[in-house]
Amino acid sequence: MSQAIAFADLGAQYRRLKVDIDARMAAVMAHGCFINGPEVGELETALAAYSGAAHAVSCGSGTDALTIALLAAGVGPGDEVYVPAFTFTATAEAVLLLGARPVFVEAMETSYLIDTDDLTRRIAASSGRSRAIIAVDLFGQAADYAVLSTIADAHGMLLIADAAQSFGGAAGNDMVGSLAPITATSFFPAKPLGCYGDGGALLTDDSNLAESYRSIRAHGKGDDKYDIVRVGLNSRLDTLQAAVLLAKLPVLDDEVAAHDTVAAHYDAAFAGKVGLPERFPGYRSAWAQYTIRVDRRDELAASLWEKGIPSAVYYPLPMHLQSAYAQFGDGEGSLPVSESLSRHVLSLPIHAYLNDTAIERICEGVLAAL
Ligand SMILES: *Cc1c(COP(=O)(O)O)cnc(C)c1O
Repeated sequence: MSQAIAFADLGAQYRRLKVDIDARMAAVMAHGCFINGPEVGELETALAAYSGAAHAVSCGSGTDALTIALLAAGVGPGDEVYVPAFTFTATAEAVLLLGARPVFVEAMETSYLIDTDDLTRRIAASSGRSRAIIAVDLFGQAADYAVLSTIADAHGMLLIADAAQSFGGAAGNDMVGSLAPITATSFFPAKPLGCYGDGGALLTDDSNLAESYRSIRAHGKGDDKYDIVRVGLNSRLDTLQAAVLLAKLPVLDDEVAAHDTVAAHYDAAFAGKVGLPERFPGYRSAWAQYTIRVDRRDELAASLWEKGIPSAVYYPLPMHLQSAYAQFGDGEGSLPVSESLSRHVLSLPIHAYLNDTAIERICEGVLAAL
């Protein structure tokens, strides 16, 4: 039996970048500024330059980035925040942690992204205080922020991009980080730009917001660290993680291009045979996942597994059916597209270190099992 294929291959990436990563980490060990060391500021400057946002504020995780964005806007009890039902838990969790109410919005079947028609209907039907929309760039392709901004502006709502899976992606010439007024991203190891632990960042052009994010991530400090002007968090990005990210950021474009090559192979092999992930013209996905839709998903996954081909289900249960969040939804049948996606999606290996032989094996494995 041939060797098992890796779903993600951080080892191969480390071998490629070992000299830079090791040197960057050794520099931190030598200067010893483990919190707010010079690499943190250097990374923030580099992230802003890369994404085209005026300000980048790093923090402890992608979940914290979302929480900080909502905290800074004063979102809390009595507020409604519109989030996709088909997403990772953290999107809804940040809302609930602040005591606000999540309103779950339907997904689109082929792009998996928030359905803006359903969003509009739900805002119109709401009798509550509609405060914010968190759109998610699920699997790496940015949501339609032109339409989302129009909706948010018409209702005086805050618009936040959850770009945990899309950093490195773009819409036309605009990079993720400059598509929405506020962007939250994650550096969890498996994301398109990942560190070696937890990490995240906020990107915005608004200098007042950036200032409040810097305060909130450090316990709500004012000009002095013992002058507390608001309730905040302890959510800084470790200097060591900033050092790792500084070594990885220069190859992100190259890795995203490699993801795109894998995706093009899959598109060609599977066209007409499975539901393909829809691509918007002119958009560049960061391809956090390559996700297909099939009828007998679990049988396909089992058959691939037997051939040493890993796959994953993102996500097996939509938010409104999670037991912790169900009280905020309308139960089974209320968001049929999101529910159907949860039963039919399967994500295949996609990373920059997948060779042609492995890609061929995956394509053959899928086609043989269908
Ligand atoms: C990973 C992820 C997050 C949370 O990021 P963490 O850094 O793990 O806290 C939020 N939203 C989405 C869509 C994610 O995929």
